[in-house]
Amino acid sequence: MQQAALIPLPRSVQWTGDVTDFSRLAPRIQIVAPEMAGPSFEFAYEALARAVNELTGWTAEEFPVLEIVDDPEITAAGSPLEGAFGLLLTDIGEQFGEEGYRLTVGPGALVQANAPAGLFYGVQTLRQMLRFEDGRLSAPCCVIEDWPAFPWRGIMLDQGRNYQSPEFLRRQIEIAARYKLNVFHLHLTEYPGWRFETRAFPHLKTEPCYTQDELREIVDYAAARFVTVMPEIEMPGHCTAFLELMPHLKCTNDTMCPGNEELYSTLQTILEEVADVFPSPYIHIGTDECEFGSDCPRCQAKWEEISCQPDHPPTLMAYFISRMNEVVKRLGRTTVTWNDQLDLGIPKDVVIHSWKMGSHAPSIAAMGYRVINSHSRDVYFDHGLTPEYVRRIYEWSPSEDVTMPVPGLLGGQGEAWHDPPVEDEWQIIEDLGFYPRLLALAERVWQGPDGRAVPFEEFEERLLDHRDRYFSRLPFPYPEQTENWKDRYKGWTHPRGIWTPPAQD
Ligand SMILES: [Zn+2]
Repeated sequence: MQQAALIPLPRSVQWTGDVTDFSRLAPRIQIVAPEMAGPSFEFAYEALARAVNELTGWTAEEFPVLEIVDDPEITAAGSPLEGAFGLLLTDIGEQFGEEGYRLTVGPGALVQANAPAGLFYGVQTLRQMLRFEDGRLSAPCCVIEDWPAFPWRGIMLDQGRNYQSPEFLRRQIEIAARYKLNVFHLHLTEYPGWRFETRAFPHLKTEPCYTQDELREIVDYAAARFVTVMPEIEMPGHCTAFLELMPHLKCTNDTMCPGNEELYSTLQTILEEVADVFPSPYIHIGTDECEFGSDCPRCQAKWEEISCQPDHPPTLMAYFISRMNEVVKRLGRTTVTWNDQLDLGIPKDVVIHSWKMGSHAPSIAAMGYRVINSHSRDVYFDHGLTPEYVRRIYEWSPSEDVTMPVPGLLGGQGEAWHDPPVEDEWQIIEDLGFYPRLLALAERVWQGPDGRAVPFEEFEERLLDHRDRYFSRLPFPYPEQTENWKDRYKGWTHPRGIWTPPAQD
């Protein structure tokens, strides 16, 4: 029997029967470390302090008290201190990697990890185990060993179509991090909107538009939660707003014109600013659902110019992507594109973001690419609140039907598109069933395909526990998916209209 509903379910959990009471001694957070391991070490401590403060309401004066203990005996034994929380950076084995952890509860709680990210994820698991009742803070005794199946565990929100406030984005990043997601993809530009402030082209913006300072704050907030914010600037299609503001760069249809040299210098200037704001190793340049004007004289002249060169790219689109890839590489970053143009030629050092119906991420990886799986059939959040919508994600895997490991397959990502305009950004979360989907996604990208051996009904019990425990003030539409749900949650009503926006951090 589960002693606590954990999402994502860890790789190995042993419940040892007892319950540890952290209130017995003066509550304190004790960081046991031979030496401090740089600034990111404290992110785990801060996350633990936030979790305890949130649960107990204890003030900063009462809790936590930070003690940094350098005790070789504890380091060697790796055993929890009675009634205390310990965070210990130590070699726990190669298989745990940088994101894995060992969590031991009883008589105290001790998180051990190879690296700060692992400590942070151990704290997220511990957070889901803590209970506060009658003034007592406790957790069930256990030994947990855990590490992720995939290094890329992402979620995207579309700010191009619907602007979302920085506060709103920070809130979603905090929730994603609690479920061990580590990439937050901002889709900053689209047909109707350009939401990235460029200092070189100050008129290029659709209100409301993020300032670079606002975006830097979001990046810092995410970094403290081990989340990378990946920016996407859509090109050369999906860019009506851009073309209205920069009409001289338009092709004969609604795309940017790859025959115009000024386009490349303009996009380079924009990407230089993007790279300056976002330290992400990856920059997404879109390139989906786009064809150039067939009657464009500039495009025709450009193709004549390049097609007589040896080893030229096979298409004008491939040429455009190669040029932009060179720009991104000169900035020291890696290009990500949607998989639309794969058949038309894309350099092998570009990461392919696979989404199209019928595409197969492991096959793209077998071609020699690094791949992110966001198959629209499974992890596009805008595909309706069908009766099975959460189960569908739960039964999916970034590796599809292929046995792990799949070299080149980075992981998976959910895509929260919301094409219709909204008045209230929280409508996006409600309409998409964002949180139920996010939790199923988090389970699968952390656990990998083997975790599907756990029946959906068992996951659903945990999901409902999380809904009641952590999402009671947030939209969490969850239609009936199993028989079990009918009995236990009779009378539960859709939250529309009764929830209130959460307090901002
Ligand atoms: Zn053109």
